[in-house]
Amino acid sequence: MPRTLPPRPNLDQLKRQARELLRALLARDSAALQRFGAGLPLVDKPILAQALHVIAREYGFASWPVLRQHIAQIRTKPPTARQQNVALLAERLAGAAQRRDLEALFAALQIGARAGDEVRALLVERGQLPLMLDLLLRGAESSDARVRFLAAQAMDHWADQRCAAPLRRLLHDPVPRVRWAALHSLQCAACKLSPLATAEDLTETLITLALGDPSVKVRRVATLRARPALRRAARRCCPRRSRRRRRRGSGAQCPPVTRSPRHERRIGHPQIS
Ligand SMILES: [Zn+2]
Repeated sequence: MPRTLPPRPNLDQLKRQARELLRALLARDSAALQRFGAGLPLVDKPILAQALHVIAREYGFASWPVLRQHIAQIRTKPPTARQQNVALLAERLAGAAQRRDLEALFAALQIGARAGDEVRALLVERGQLPLMLDLLLRGAESSDARVRFLAAQAMDHWADQRCAAPLRRLLHDPVPRVRWAALHSLQCAACKLSPLATAEDLTETLITLALGDPSVKVRRVATLRARPALRRAARRCCPRRSRRRRRRGSGAQCPPVTRSPRHERRIGHPQIS
């Protein structure tokens, strides 16, 4: 998946990412093998120069020298007010994560979607995102429903694969707003760096929630999320001709296909219903 450079990229941080990728590759890590295979043909003994090339390709550059030149050009200019703001926001988040201060983290997460993407890129570059996620994962286990809700909601934008199982558990939370926040964060791919993969198919759970959850908001979110899977199932069970006939009013039995509402991007907002 293409990655975004932070506003003031740091060459040393990118080299560190390349060294980590190379280490993972030598350990035959499957995710690293996949990343490497997407940028270069797989070889028995990869070297750092190849890992640097893969990193450059992931950020949308033809090669490492092109990326290095791009960064050199950016860094000769003084940082803009926006870049300074992004750096400040990233420091606030990283500081809260280091202090293990969940309330400060939730307060620092009140940022817009565009700035959020840049802040996330900066945290990824500095290697600080996992620390922040550790704290959100702790929040997901809290006995306080408000904290579980805010943690589940924040995971919509900041989650990595570690969040899939906790979010899956929160689908059965006794508090409705926690369930719908977890449902959205688990299923939404638009806000994340990469979609979350769940160990098992969620369609049955979504249908159960859509039909039987006591909260209308949970039922609504579950219905919207179940719709694509049901549509795929309908395509499998009904041949194209039957669907065409149904549209012409000839009585075939496919459900009507409706469009999902426009996805609204939100980051760490504490609106509590
Ligand atoms: Zn989302």
